[in-house]
Amino acid sequence: MTTKQERDEYIIIVGCGRLGSHLARLLSKARKSVVVIDKNEYAFHRLSNDFSGFTLEADAIEIDSLLRAKIDKADVVVATTDDDNTNVMIAQIAKTIYHVPKVIARLFEPSRQQIYEQLDIETLCPTILSAEALRNNIIGEETEDLK
Ligand code: AMP
Repeated sequence: MTTKQERDEYIIIVGCGRLGSHLARLLSKARKSVVVIDKNEYAFHRLSNDFSGFTLEADAIEIDSLLRAKIDKADVVVATTDDDNTNVMIAQIAKTIYHVPKVIARLFEPSRQQIYEQLDIETLCPTILSAEALRNNIIGEETEDLK
């Protein structure tokens, strides 16, 4: 059963590309309140017909775009654009200016992950996750000492 608290959680996803659109679909299916921002209107074609959230065509680097998406009311911001610097910048704005409780930035370059973790920015690096999933698939999960 979904509680009222879960239903009302407000999530902003920046970037409606391969990752952002898929995440938007999953969260929408989980009955979350979702707004997806993308600077390219065509990107919204990736959303399925049953997506129940909102879309905003805007450049998320501009504070005005984030305000239009009501970042000041967001419970979660996920920055999934194809640019690490953009994602980290949006994450920092969400965290330090608007005090969004949960902020996650997609990161392409694995070597930068530690730096951002030190800045207290939660990151998700698909390259690392994919490598770990492949390793688990090939040699199993038990071999932690090979990490
Ligand atoms: P993908 O790499 O397929 O997940 O796509 C990344 C998405 O991020 C694309 O749809 C881009 O148009 C979008 N994007 C990149 N920079 C920005 C930005 N500054 N504001 C909004 N969307 C962006």
